[in-house]
Amino acid sequence: MFDKLTRPLRDLRISVTDRCNFRCRYCMPRESFEKDHPFLPHAELLTFEEITRLAKIFHTLGVRKIRLTGGEPLLRKDVEVLVEMLASALPGVDLALTTNGSLLAGKAQTLKDAGLHRITISLDALDNEIFRDIIDVNFSVEDILASIRAAEEAGFSPIKINMVVKRGVNEGEILPMARHFRGTGHILRFIEFMDVGSTNRWESGDVVPAKDIIAAIQREFPLEPLEPNYHGEVANRWRYRDGQGEIGLIASVTQPFCGDCTRIRLSAVGELFTCLFAGEGHDLRGLLRQGAGDAGVEAFIQNLWRRRKDRYSELRQEKSASRQDKVEMSYIGG
Ligand code: SAM
Ligand code: SF4
Ligand code: SF4
Repeated sequence: MFDKLTRPLRDLRISVTDRCNFRCRYCMPRESFEKDHPFLPHAELLTFEEITRLAKIFHTLGVRKIRLTGGEPLLRKDVEVLVEMLASALPGVDLALTTNGSLLAGKAQTLKDAGLHRITISLDALDNEIFRDIIDVNFSVEDILASIRAAEEAGFSPIKINMVVKRGVNEGEILPMARHFRGTGHILRFIEFMDVGSTNRWESGDVVPAKDIIAAIQREFPLEPLEPNYHGEVANRWRYRDGQGEIGLIASVTQPFCGDCTRIRLSAVGELFTCLFAGEGHDLRGLLRQGAGDAGVEAFIQNLWRRRKDRYSELRQEKSASRQDKVEMSYIGG
């Protein structure tokens, strides 16, 4: 099944909650996500049974990778039960989860035992002052490092570490992070700050281009490029020439990869988004709750995918992206 730009559907990202215990300034800035923010009521969320049913339908349509995300996915009560349901329903599917790491230390083994294959942990700095300034709540770098250790002990390998780089905020942490994770077997991935949603006051000048990140690391540790692991891989891979592991760069702003984008996103309330920068979703939950059969749901998704022509990041680069109201990343699933 191909979209208008002949891209197949391969990856499904499922947001299991729009809530988060962090207030990262680039994602859920406190001024827009305070206590009176209308977060989704629990009854509105897709149930685990609904998510699992949809995941099976997506699998028949070509999905081979599923990532649980949010918001902070570990805030969803009993998320390990969902992992278990997905892992047993879809044994051939690569099942991953992205977390801020704050609640992982006590849960890593449970998630592994439930059948989670891979884990990505976000960490933007090793310096506590910079870290706290970004996340805007009172967790420490040590909490996240303890979670990384717990994930290691539970047998996740390699673990990916996501670092969003924002100019003037944490570019000075690029080298300390590279030094820290070299030789650990973990894959540090530098992510260009993106203009997701409409609350994070993104400006192009805030983006540290991936090529500058590579150049900064090269000066201390010689690197060489690696081939992608598979067609459509989002991160550009590089390895340390001295054999101390690899890093990744997600250059969605300076080197957009829309041409290979095989991802679809399912929000916590069951709306489908065909692009991270979409303005609106397509209601699948309504269809499920009206009693649609699998064939009807399948036809709905097929119809949506076949009409898809999203390429926002390329349009941004060509300076022809429209300034639409984009859905927040914490809602749509990062
Ligand atoms: N709460 C989890 C976490 O932080 O890992 C999962 C959801 S979060 C939206 C997923 C990823 O998106 C994180 O690695 C986060 O750093 C990244 N992210 C959020 N806002 C971003 C932005 N404006 N630009 C680039 N990456 C962003
Ligand atoms: Fe929460 Fe993740 Fe967004 Fe930070 S990036 S506010 S941890 S959802
Ligand atoms: Fe895919 Fe949209 Fe991102 Fe392009 S901008 S890579 S189409 S999610």
